[in-house]
Amino acid sequence: MGGVRRERSSPAAAKGANPCRFLTPRVDLPRRPVPERNDVSFKSREKKRRYKAAVKKSKRAHAPETARRWFLTLAKKPGRFDCCGDRFGRGAEVVYRHEPREVRCVRCADREGVKYRP
Ligand SMILES: [Zn+2]
Repeated sequence: MGGVRRERSSPAAAKGANPCRFLTPRVDLPRRPVPERNDVSFKSREKKRRYKAAVKKSKRAHAPETARRWFLTLAKKPGRFDCCGDRFGRGAEVVYRHEPREVRCVRCADREGVKYRP
């Protein structure tokens, strides 16, 4: 019976000795550091939500033409150009079209006379 008692102290000791404990996901972590402001933040979030909905609505009206437009943008992650198969790194300049989704390099876009905007 006395042997079972040892369990109490050993997990805590192991926790303190483990350098990797920061990597373990903590489910019980509070979402907001200041829970008392929940009421206020709910209202402002509601306002934001409505604002976003309005923006989305007006954006949707332009969506088809915006989606088919080419944009000169910086790559968020490395990848490969659809035009020539060249690889590009993160932060590289790419010419991007949303619909149908395609990533081209500036060279190919220029050669094919693609009009893109920054
Ligand atoms: Zn290319």
